[in-house]
Amino acid sequence: MNNSHQEIWNNCLKVIKDNVPSISFRTWFEPIIPLKIENNILTIQVPSPFFYEYLEEQYIEILRKTLRKELGQDAKLEYNIVMENNIFSNKPYTIKLPAKNRSDLRNLPVSVPLETEETPIKNPFVIPGIKKLHIDSRLNTDYSFNNFIEGECNRLARSAGYAVGNKPGKTAFNPLLIYGESGLGKTHLAQAIGIHSKEKFPELTVLYVNANKFQTQFVESIRNNNKNDFLHFYQMIDVLILDDVQEFAGKEKTQNTFFHIFNHLHQSGKQLILTSDKPPVELQGIEQRLLSRFKWGLNADLQSPDYETRMAILQKKAYNDGIELPEEVLEYIATHITNNVRELEGALISLLAQSTLNKKEITLELARQMIDKLIKNTRREISIDYIQKIVCDYFNIPIDLVQSTTRKREIVQARQVAMFFSKSLTKSSLATIGSRIGGKDHATVLHSCKTVNNLIDTDKHFRLQIDEIEKKLKV
Ligand code: ADP
Ligand code: MG
Repeated sequence: MNNSHQEIWNNCLKVIKDNVPSISFRTWFEPIIPLKIENNILTIQVPSPFFYEYLEEQYIEILRKTLRKELGQDAKLEYNIVMENNIFSNKPYTIKLPAKNRSDLRNLPVSVPLETEETPIKNPFVIPGIKKLHIDSRLNTDYSFNNFIEGECNRLARSAGYAVGNKPGKTAFNPLLIYGESGLGKTHLAQAIGIHSKEKFPELTVLYVNANKFQTQFVESIRNNNKNDFLHFYQMIDVLILDDVQEFAGKEKTQNTFFHIFNHLHQSGKQLILTSDKPPVELQGIEQRLLSRFKWGLNADLQSPDYETRMAILQKKAYNDGIELPEEVLEYIATHITNNVRELEGALISLLAQSTLNKKEITLELARQMIDKLIKNTRREISIDYIQKIVCDYFNIPIDLVQSTTRKREIVQARQVAMFFSKSLTKSSLATIGSRIGGKDHATVLHSCKTVNNLIDTDKHFRLQIDEIEKKLKV
């Protein structure tokens, strides 16, 4: 049995070839490179973790049979996975896990275990059990610090995040909670911290998880009767990034479990990074004891980017995508799309799509047309009906009461507020607005707008309410 690994593998391939469809053979077996045989372990190199998973899932039987025929009953197989473009290093990755001993894996919320060690681990179908699961961090390499543009709007959050990435668990910023409205870069920044930590300390287990995903995993773990595995899994993490924690609202059991995980990690000096679309004080439906923990470390907010930052983001994005755009086009976008970074990127992408589809050069004219359309489309959604609905929801009043002739004070006020917003946010005439909101005439609408304006100036509480409604309308 001192044949070379190449020969042994060729013998296996001969049998496999006769037993699998030729297209599968070409796809899944030809790319495999046999590396060595040692102690009856054949090491093969495969191009990706997915490849490995697929082999184990579909072809484990035939691999087992042919290999045992060549090497005897104690034959083992070992995979060496070479991943291109991996975020941590250029070293080949190796994978460690109990074949698809699926029953073991099923208990754990995250599969595709990866690790950065270079020595391949005996895995194969023969050895059951697993000491430590190596976890895919679920980080997106695009969301690096390098791609995150710094500006006034994110200075504190970014620098705190950078400090955390340099010394996870060892700064005062634990937990670090990043909050801000949608599209302002919370996920990007939180992931950047994870990527940075992992680069600096490859041995740390970093995990990014969205609060919704966490919740689903939790519910599933209860259903499958393995809540303890779930807890254990999360307690092993060194840097835990929980995105969109506001999603926990009203989910008491999930909060409770997270509370325990939080405590365990925090006490053991592990780093927690949270994001939320509101500051903790405004988070509703989250337990007090959890909220108070969120405030232990640092809460840093992200604001809408100013003009310079918007320009810098557009330039970076265009550069990363390898496109050159006239400065005036970038300026036009940066001037007109002001809310958040996601919309900014969206505008750039539509512009590129337009120009590619129509084979037109990207000119200021094209940008203007497209952006005007984009802005109109977003505006179009604000209709009188939409305004009535939001206002009624806010005051908790059935919409048909506002439509009726009732003169009850709070109904009248809701009606007036709906008219006020219809005037300021739509292009409809006073008459149209009146006829759509309770069948009133244009004079009533005018009067309503005046009343609301007066109240805004004189009544602080009322003004806050108007601000909140306006925010909801513009989401
Ligand atoms: P959020 O999680 O707050 O809703 P995201 O992190 O998903 O927002 O950001 C939306 C998009 O904007 C992403 O593609 C992100 O890369 C980009 N982005 C946000 N902030 C920045 C920034 N400061 N520099 C570069 N890109 C940014
Ligand atoms: Mg996000």
